[in-house]
Amino acid sequence: MDQDGATRREALQIGAAALTLGAIADSLGAGQAFAVTGDMAGLPWANDAMRWAQVAFTEEDPPRYDPNFWFDLFRKTHVEAVTLSAGGDIAFYPTKVPLHKRARDLGDRDMLGEMIKGARALKMSVICRVDPHAMSEEAYAAHPEWAACTEDGKPRRHWAAADMWVTCQNGGFYFDFMPAVLQEISTHYKPEGFFGNRWAGSGMCWCQTCRTKFRAATGLELPVSNDPQEPRRKAYILWNQQMRAQQFALWNEASKAGNRDGFFSPNGGLNDPNTVIHPIVAVDRQGRSGTTPVWMMGKYAKQVRAYMQNLPVCGLFNVGVEDENRWKDSVQRGPELEAWAHSGIAQGFRPWFCKFNARIFDPRWVAPVSKIFQWHYANDKYMRNTANLAKVAILNSYQSGTFTAGGVAPVAGDGIRAAQRVGDAQNGYYQALVEARIPFEMADDRQMEPAHIDRYRVLVLPDIAALSDTQCRQIRDYVNAGGRIVATGETSLYDELGRKRANFGLADLFGCDYVKTESAIKNSYLTPRPPHALTHGLENAPRVIAASQQLTVKPHDSAPQPLTLVPSYPDLPMERVFPESGQEATNIPAIFCREVGKGRVVYFPSDLDRTFWEVLSEDHLVLLKNAVLWAMDEAQPMTVTGPGLIDMSYWRQKNSLAAHLVNMNNPMMMKGPYREMLPAGPYTVSLAIPAGANVARVKLLESGRVPKTRSAGGRLIVEVPRIRLHEVVAVDIT
Ligand SMILES: [Zn+2]
Repeated sequence: MDQDGATRREALQIGAAALTLGAIADSLGAGQAFAVTGDMAGLPWANDAMRWAQVAFTEEDPPRYDPNFWFDLFRKTHVEAVTLSAGGDIAFYPTKVPLHKRARDLGDRDMLGEMIKGARALKMSVICRVDPHAMSEEAYAAHPEWAACTEDGKPRRHWAAADMWVTCQNGGFYFDFMPAVLQEISTHYKPEGFFGNRWAGSGMCWCQTCRTKFRAATGLELPVSNDPQEPRRKAYILWNQQMRAQQFALWNEASKAGNRDGFFSPNGGLNDPNTVIHPIVAVDRQGRSGTTPVWMMGKYAKQVRAYMQNLPVCGLFNVGVEDENRWKDSVQRGPELEAWAHSGIAQGFRPWFCKFNARIFDPRWVAPVSKIFQWHYANDKYMRNTANLAKVAILNSYQSGTFTAGGVAPVAGDGIRAAQRVGDAQNGYYQALVEARIPFEMADDRQMEPAHIDRYRVLVLPDIAALSDTQCRQIRDYVNAGGRIVATGETSLYDELGRKRANFGLADLFGCDYVKTESAIKNSYLTPRPPHALTHGLENAPRVIAASQQLTVKPHDSAPQPLTLVPSYPDLPMERVFPESGQEATNIPAIFCREVGKGRVVYFPSDLDRTFWEVLSEDHLVLLKNAVLWAMDEAQPMTVTGPGLIDMSYWRQKNSLAAHLVNMNNPMMMKGPYREMLPAGPYTVSLAIPAGANVARVKLLESGRVPKTRSAGGRLIVEVPRIRLHEVVAVDIT
């Protein structure tokens, strides 16, 4: 963790890790402070708010901003809920809580109250944003023990605001002061709820409070290693989660002071889906930079919907340029804003635009944001999804990210890279399924009961190293009953807390036993052995590059497999670049394709998905795609033919179906933003129509046209001449 606290990207990973730990803490008998908050019946307002706005105030806004600009924009964009800065570090209303510092230029005004009044006049829901990560000089003078400390025990000045201090997430600021602030705001303004930014602290704190509380809870000193298998670090991970659960329970209760249905929703959520469900979760991924693929916003939607199901999940994007440098007052141009927002909308996000600073220095963002939101409003009924029709899901494993690093124990200071290694395998399979045009969802490793996973015919396990005995049994039951899995790498080699097993937990399904793992393997190859469904498309490929991490395994039988290994041989000097005699081709299986019970299993004893993410070899795409198609062994609910790269999804609403196609053909491709939309087409979309539904009318929501359609083999075939960015085939059904 750097001194700046978590960067935005890291914060997201930490948030994801935190999500997991609730379940683990619960299994250890901890974390019982979780309160079950809200249910579907209590949340009609949230379900109705399809479009969201957020205005983050600055201290100089109160006398300078134009509230009517915002009310006009809210009207124009048809937003139904707004998040407004309220308090915590800085108050935007005349607070009476001692040491709650009012904004520098607030004067006698009540900026929060003005904005709430205007939003209420538009019948909007209001969420108050609080930020507890910093405090004023006055608060520090009165309570130096509220400050977070560095490892040497020194209080931390704020890294960007020199007159402020970073707060400790386990001390009085979080546990006494903030509940008083939440109570005051709830009582005076009765917002529907609260949204917490930087709510979980700014990295690890070494203050006396933390040392004392940690010792009291665990008998241990604070850890110095980042290795999650080091006992003090492991204890800290679990203790930290318990502290966040206590904090959440306290804040959630305080949020009800003026509104019994009030709630606190931490940025990114703190959901143990089995005990805590917020009425809404906003996922803060404000923009992309570097090589972030444009589908990433959709991936976050899938990750959160995996446990939120049809409860509202919002994709929070910034109108400004957002990377580690955070140019808060900047503006992105239309194509990139549109591409990022629509990538999330297609996968079920409700759009939420965020503007820092209530004053407008550069209004260029207003037109593209209005366009996105007006389109969303015009097609509102097709955005109210009740079910996703995909039959394939990638399992998202929080515990693997936290407690393993794809089998390589992270060393001190390496925690984030380790988590990224787990994410890379997932991103590899994600990219492959997007390219393969297989509609898919994500499932959550905390909900693997039949009620949650039986709706999928195929579960993809991209190096899901950490699986408990219970989870292994659930997967075994799933396969025996007809489910199908595609697994890679060290899947099931560790338990839920990252302790290595002697053998795979799923060895019986894989058809092999674990021997060893080797990393950074160079110059090794795969030999496709057609004919087989797995080698379809590789008939003319005698050699395919092998993955860089390979597992040695002992097969349970001698059944021939469609892919075998050419072991690594020298890559230098050039004169030595040839395989040992007899090793040009071997019988060592590089894949296990098996029928088990009523189901099917594909297991790659390598990190082929992670290698694909790194190299993007098309041969690997073919293998990863074929594995899912062979496992599935029936038609996908939605298929698309036509040029280029598109992301897709297929949804049901109350009286309609919606097939989304997002044009990802960007000349900048894997690097950088969209500069312009390059329309692509034509496409033919084939849709399975759910039993009992009759097609009444078909239209295209981007072009506004009525497409050519026909039916064939019980499916609806739709011709889409061209996609600008995001076309939706909307099918009214009776
Ligand atoms: Zn502390």
